[in-house]
Amino acid sequence: MAKWQTIVIEKIWLLGAIIIEVLDGIIDDVSEILKSGAFWFLDLMGGIIAVYDWIYDWIAWGISYFWITTLRKIHNTRIWIHTYRRQIINGALYFIITGAFTIWLIASVVDYSYSYNGRVLGIVKEQRDVLEILDLVSEELTQEYKAPIAINGDEDISFNTVISVGKQVDKPDDVLKKFTYMGDIQTKAYGLFIDGNRIGILQSEKEANAVVDNIIAKYLKKDKDYESYGIEEKVEVQEVDTTLAKISSRPAIVRLIEAGTVKETVYTASEGDTFKSVAEELDVSVKSLKDLNPALADLNTFSEGQNIVSQSEAPILTVRTVGLEVFAETIKYKTETIESDEYYDDEEFVRTEGSDGKMRVTARVTRLNGELVDREDVETEVITEAVNKVIVKGTKERPLTEATGTFIRPVPAGIYSGYGWRWGRMHEGVDLAISSGTPIKAADGGTVVRAGWYGAYGLCVDIDHGGGIMTRYGHCSSINVSVGDQVFQGQVIARVGSTGRSTGPHCHFEIRVNGVAIDPTGYI
Ligand SMILES: [Zn+2]
Repeated sequence: MAKWQTIVIEKIWLLGAIIIEVLDGIIDDVSEILKSGAFWFLDLMGGIIAVYDWIYDWIAWGISYFWITTLRKIHNTRIWIHTYRRQIINGALYFIITGAFTIWLIASVVDYSYSYNGRVLGIVKEQRDVLEILDLVSEELTQEYKAPIAINGDEDISFNTVISVGKQVDKPDDVLKKFTYMGDIQTKAYGLFIDGNRIGILQSEKEANAVVDNIIAKYLKKDKDYESYGIEEKVEVQEVDTTLAKISSRPAIVRLIEAGTVKETVYTASEGDTFKSVAEELDVSVKSLKDLNPALADLNTFSEGQNIVSQSEAPILTVRTVGLEVFAETIKYKTETIESDEYYDDEEFVRTEGSDGKMRVTARVTRLNGELVDREDVETEVITEAVNKVIVKGTKERPLTEATGTFIRPVPAGIYSGYGWRWGRMHEGVDLAISSGTPIKAADGGTVVRAGWYGAYGLCVDIDHGGGIMTRYGHCSSINVSVGDQVFQGQVIARVGSTGRSTGPHCHFEIRVNGVAIDPTGYI
């Protein structure tokens, strides 16, 4: 029912009630008037009729019988009225009172059910209980959903008369609640579409666009200039007809986009990896890994190269950023090998230890959702140079350590004391006196069988030349070789000293054949 019709009907009801009240008030007065003063009217009527009778007699010839009959009937009616005036008044009063009561009765049990776009929400006493708060409802909904929502009383709301006996009648407060808790209020809103899929509905175009800005902002660092940034997917915002309940808040849509899809990755294990170590590495839970890899669930450690499936959330939107970034990088040292004929070919040593350098690299970096996908170095500034490791490798051929069968003199000195009996004791070698520290060379190639303190010999070296032949060097100040070393003829094995039973620096030299000392004099 249209609003104006409703109002007219209401007015009529109201007018009826007023009339009833007025009538109620005047009924007694009227009765009194009729009982007393009003009789003059009836008497007058009687007089008129008497005159009429006279006139009738006087002009009877000119008046048709019809009229006479009619007027006679009127006359008779008036007489009837006059005779039954009390009954007539009572009848009229009865009719009016009964009618008023009926109207009152109907008005008190007939209410209105109100509906929003065909959906019945409740019953109200008066239509205005609904219509007058629509502005308030619209305002509340607008605040609640932050979308301009207007309920049109003519188009959206309809009323039906109902007998409300025994039913709950809503007060304006209840009406307000019913409207504001109703989710299926139709409204216009804005759908956010990513690559043609509707991700969600937002209250306004501005909010929908703000979702995208929020996502982008998560991947932009503050105080950083980007050469470009944007969304890889096709994003559209379109007006849609929907209901209030389907509208989502901006943070909810942002979360939805962030959690969006599940990305599956395969991790290749290293020897000794465990569920725990892989879970920590991938920042996922152990349980999720075990669920995704049921066949491996019982393993304590993985073996090298084992594939472990993992899942992680991947946003629906992909934010591409391009900008300059600075990286502190290590300059790895190189290793160079220098060949030297100063050292034997089996000798190798580190002359300089290597150390890494540092540099600052400015690069144009492209990231997708924060993950580096492309890097183009623009500028490199060395802070510390790397120091290369230098290895020296000998090239000189090492002399053979086999015995030559001939002997050389271990130190360039003459024989100070010879082989033979001396002071009542057998001197089993020769003493070659020379200043302390002079290098002592092996008399022939062989294997060191003694290198250390040996009683009266002091620091002593014995070299086995094979074939039962051995040489001995005593009273050394230091020894350069160890037992088991292969030495060649002329190799420095020790230095001259005066250790053990000795009276001054010299090298005591012996040649033994099957353990028996012979006179070295002829051999060196
Ligand atoms: Zn000696």
